Amino acid sequence: MIVEYKISPNMIVKIESESMTTLFEKIHAVNDSLKPEPCGKCQSESMHVVRSAGNNVYYELVCTNNTCRAKLSLGIENNESKRLYKKRTKVDGDGRTVKEDGKTVYLPDRGWQRWDSDKGELV
Ligand SMILES: [Zn+2]
Repeated sequence: MIVEYKISPNMIVKIESESMTTLFEKIHAVNDSLKPEPCGKCQSESMHVVRSAGNNVYYELVCTNNTCRAKLSLGIENNESKRLYKKRTKVDGDGRTVKEDGKTVYLPDRGWQRWDSDKGELV
């Protein structure tokens, strides 16, 4: 079966699958990577941005409100799939998810962050 899945007013993704379970997994993957979402700081629309620095490439959703410009970083799964996912959890310096009392620590504002020049860090 082929499903046309509308993820925004101007974006439709065609998903092909042989089974309902695989279709469900593919829809999840689309939602967790491509589907735009409002900024977690100010609720403005977001846009897809790819930028590079040195040898690294960064995939982000960036707030279109120029006074906000918060971003939601996307990670790349470290397996064969190379699937993108929205980073919503706190990570340590090695990129590992931080856990406290055995529970994953989630970032505020659904993972949306912006640079705080006074603190010198993303908040
Ligand atoms: Zn914003």
